[in-house]
Amino acid sequence: MSADRLSLALLGATGSIGASTLDVVARHPGRYGVFALCAHSSAPALLDLCRRHRPRYAVLSGLAENADLRRAYAEQTGSELLFGSRALEQIAGHPDCDTVMAAIVGAAGLASALAAARAGKRVLLANKEALVLAGAPFMRAVREAGATLLPIDSEHNAVFQCLPPGGSGTAALAAVRRVVLTASGGPFRAAPLARLEQVTPDEACAHPNWVMGRKISVDSATMMNKGLEVIEARWLFDLPPERIDVLIHPQSIVHSLVEYVDGSVLAQLSNPDMRVPIAHALAYPGRIDSGARPLDLGAIGQLAFERPDLERFPCLQLAYEALRAGGSSPAILNAANEVAVEAFLCGRLRFTAIARVIAETLQQVPCGDADSLEAVLEADARARRAATALAARRQGKAA
Ligand code: NDP
Ligand code: MG
Repeated sequence: MSADRLSLALLGATGSIGASTLDVVARHPGRYGVFALCAHSSAPALLDLCRRHRPRYAVLSGLAENADLRRAYAEQTGSELLFGSRALEQIAGHPDCDTVMAAIVGAAGLASALAAARAGKRVLLANKEALVLAGAPFMRAVREAGATLLPIDSEHNAVFQCLPPGGSGTAALAAVRRVVLTASGGPFRAAPLARLEQVTPDEACAHPNWVMGRKISVDSATMMNKGLEVIEARWLFDLPPERIDVLIHPQSIVHSLVEYVDGSVLAQLSNPDMRVPIAHALAYPGRIDSGARPLDLGAIGQLAFERPDLERFPCLQLAYEALRAGGSSPAILNAANEVAVEAFLCGRLRFTAIARVIAETLQQVPCGDADSLEAVLEADARARRAATALAARRQGKAA
């Protein structure tokens, strides 16, 4: 691979962020080389991507060693296929790769994102759960290894673009009064509250502006996504919760805002298309074509904003409370949310019970420290056990 060609490992290649990343990369063939493509268990989809992008390595982290698959990949794509979750960490820290897109969904993405940070890589972070779960150890690893952390989440990428160059140093942050994360409000922003009891997984996943994986789509519908993003912002920009606000903006054109002490407010705007923050992070500090449609504000006409309704969106409140409680509370919140969302997607839990399971888990599992990876993983495991039992009890009661 030539020295000026970035060598990219894509974790979560078969997902929605994976597809958008490969779309941007394919627009700039001389600039990015695909070093590795990784998925969990989608072997045929990954094989197809390998045929097109010819990475040196492919990883199926959810499958055990399989000689037939390994041979098929080698013959059809020239890629060496690795198995098991440790392979993700090996790839993320591999000396021949300089850029890692961390786009696995959920806490499962933490270990490999952390491995990339520890190896001092340029880390493009879509996996917000890594910061929610392990914000302190993750940011420590970034600092100690001299990694470059670039946010992919559209709101955080917007904030990053609106902060002074050099980002979140103490002097720069002193000039920032607050950041405002925008939220679309999801598919149920204006639905009658009583209807929420009955909504189906497909209705919850039908996001008005973004096409995303199913877990984050449900998170958007409950607004837990925004709660996780408040916690993500706390770590990325080193801001306390009272300087991170949320504003509903149904059109998803303004991706977030930074308010300075002099009253100036800077915002980043674009059509809702994840290729915009992905292209920004891939080219940073340069700029490249993302393939996104140019923004035509004249055609859009009006942009609307409103404050979030916490009765409709209790998950947002729960996330702020967990952040203020500190320690392992965000890890407990995240684990309970993953369990509850999965139960909802499988038809075992009502939509409105997601917030109840999370609240009960937070009450039941004691908050401990979250300074080490071991501590957060233990909190994560305890919360998963508690949330699974709480969700099962509710299923028994059909609630
Ligand atoms: P998808 O569900 O579309 O894709 C998830 C990817 O992760 C797939 O490649 C999947 O592989 C892989 N994966 C799933 N489980 C595991 C596991 N246990 N171990 C290893 N890999 C696994 O998710 P999205 O692309 O929507 O989201 C990815 C991340 O980006 C999330 O953290 C999300 O919050 C964040 N994000 C997403 C946005 C979006 O627009 N989609 C916007 C902002 C943030 P397989 O196909 O084999 O299951
Ligand atoms: Mg987002």
